[in-house]
Amino acid sequence: MGQSIQQRYREILNRIDAACKHAGRNSSEIVLVAVSKTKPDEDVLDLIETGHLHFGENRAKPLEERMETIKNEEVQWHFIGNLQTNKIKYMAHRVNWIQSIHKKKALKEVEKRAAEEGRIINVLIQVNISAEDQKSGCDPEELEGILTYAQNLKHTRVQGLMGMATFTDDAEKVRPEFILLRELRDKHNHLNGGAVDLKHLSMGMTNDLEVAIEEGATMVRVGTAIFGERSY
Ligand SMILES: *Cc1c(COP(=O)(O)O)cnc(C)c1O
Repeated sequence: MGQSIQQRYREILNRIDAACKHAGRNSSEIVLVAVSKTKPDEDVLDLIETGHLHFGENRAKPLEERMETIKNEEVQWHFIGNLQTNKIKYMAHRVNWIQSIHKKKALKEVEKRAAEEGRIINVLIQVNISAEDQKSGCDPEELEGILTYAQNLKHTRVQGLMGMATFTDDAEKVRPEFILLRELRDKHNHLNGGAVDLKHLSMGMTNDLEVAIEEGATMVRVGTAIFGERSY
């Protein structure tokens, strides 16, 4: 089977360290979200044992089940997938981050459900930065309206932007897409002097995390390099 998950995890930490050094950044600025989608609970537990606490899932039902079976209160659960508004109610009691919000209607639903639970849910606004049509996220022009709406929410804390780059083996091809996300952050941060602090940029995955870190990522979402290839 080759390397263990813990060994692969250490290699990712090394890659993040090296990328930060190269970019003149401090690796404490980077949150690594381990994307455990489709992998068994044992793999997640393996990583929790090393002290890792941020995990990402891209489908509502598996996230719900995972939050149920892995009881560790310190784990920060991230939802990173395509989100149907009517699924928010199933995760609101426990999810810590929803990275894939791209419309006001979804923000409104997060606010309602988080209020019911007496919680605050962290949210990233997903922006379509890739050249591929079918990639999800709002268009850059829609950001201002969404962020303006977000300013008055009490239970929904917009913490930044998320983007998925074009799928390619050539990491340099995605650099302009990451630059676009950073520029959108700089343009909209504290919009109208408001409270919305876009401190996070969630971008970069197994193939392109170095480029993402060079371009300002504060969160990288890594699946394959930690847990191995997925069959789907
Ligand atoms: C699967 C997934 C990842 C992780 O991708 P890898 O290439 O396996 O590291 C990151 N972000 C999202 C939104 C995903 O769905």
